[in-house]
Amino acid sequence: MALGLTPPWTVTGADFDADRRRLDIHIDFPAGSRFACPQCGAAGCPAHDTAAMSWRHLNFFQHQAYLNARVPRVKCEACGVRKVSVPWARDGSGFTLLFEALVMAMIRAMPVKAAERLVGEHDTRLWRVIHHYVEEARARVDTADVTRVAVDETAARRGHDYISLFVDIDQARVIHVTEGRDLAIVAAFADDLVEHGGNPAQIADVCIDMSPAFIKGVAEHLPNAEVTFDKFHIVKIINEAVDQVRRAERKTHVELKGTRYLWLRNPATLSDRQRVTLNSLPTRTLKTARAYQIRLTFQGMYAETSQQAAAAYLKRWYFWATHSRLPPMIDAAHTVKRHWDGILRWFDSTIANGVIEGINSLVQAAKAKSRGYRSTRNLKAMVYLIAGKLYLRLPA
Ligand SMILES: [Zn+2]
Repeated sequence: MALGLTPPWTVTGADFDADRRRLDIHIDFPAGSRFACPQCGAAGCPAHDTAAMSWRHLNFFQHQAYLNARVPRVKCEACGVRKVSVPWARDGSGFTLLFEALVMAMIRAMPVKAAERLVGEHDTRLWRVIHHYVEEARARVDTADVTRVAVDETAARRGHDYISLFVDIDQARVIHVTEGRDLAIVAAFADDLVEHGGNPAQIADVCIDMSPAFIKGVAEHLPNAEVTFDKFHIVKIINEAVDQVRRAERKTHVELKGTRYLWLRNPATLSDRQRVTLNSLPTRTLKTARAYQIRLTFQGMYAETSQQAAAAYLKRWYFWATHSRLPPMIDAAHTVKRHWDGILRWFDSTIANGVIEGINSLVQAAKAKSRGYRSTRNLKAMVYLIAGKLYLRLPA
């Protein structure tokens, strides 16, 4: 019963090898047993021939346990010769269902590499199990109610291979992960949405960064979506402009050496050392300090409580930035100008930062869990598993 056996299967014996720390349980069926056809379900098919197979099972204390059985192929009158399904394992798996449930529970608690060491199985075998359960659960995901989506991209490996995530904002779950960050990914998302019962025309809000590919993709494939530009991405662009000002000024101001990270922070989050450094700098005359103030003032816009107030604020900021005589800041201000409506849309779409930040931290966790993953496919599966709010159907 503990093995999940159903008639005609019975345990016929067990071999215990203390040296190899291995327990082999033998399972068989009586001669003349009849089986259901795996194809059409017809009962009472006789065995045609058999093949010996074994499955890794839950450890018996510190001993690895295996089930061994000769699995029959039946001769069905309608379907011909077919290999039967056994009640304790999925077709094609070398693990029992209970062992797979253990693997999936472990994966939720630790990196795949750690699970690999604990169970003593090669990680490619564990990944196969993960892919099966994730794909099965993914197939049942329902996107019929999705109306607000955020898109985020992350480097799969340092420097290359991007994956893009589509987040259902209202349910705070990742509903689509795809390789790349080009125009085609929005089309792929729209197709996937339809496959899961959703409707691209029903997407009313989409939060993206300012990449032209995303903007174009949304216009083409999510026709009714209003675009909100992601706050963090805009601030990042302005930060890069501040850094350009610093790099140029450093050539004539040695005291700016080693201050790069100071200007990337907000005053409240400076370390004690950075605060001392900042106080020692001639901030009244430094261009870098002026650029930094322009960035901080831009961020201040997000404290406004209405789109109208934010629009007035942004207008004043734009005037200041474009008259700063700091070319990188002027360029950044022009970028803001070109994306004006989508930046201000933030105040109406009220897409909570928390959701995107929360998903982002889950993705970082997924990367950590799949450290040493051999493929982007593995990382995608782990993102779904951790951030997809999937309902896994696991044997209990
Ligand atoms: Zn049949």
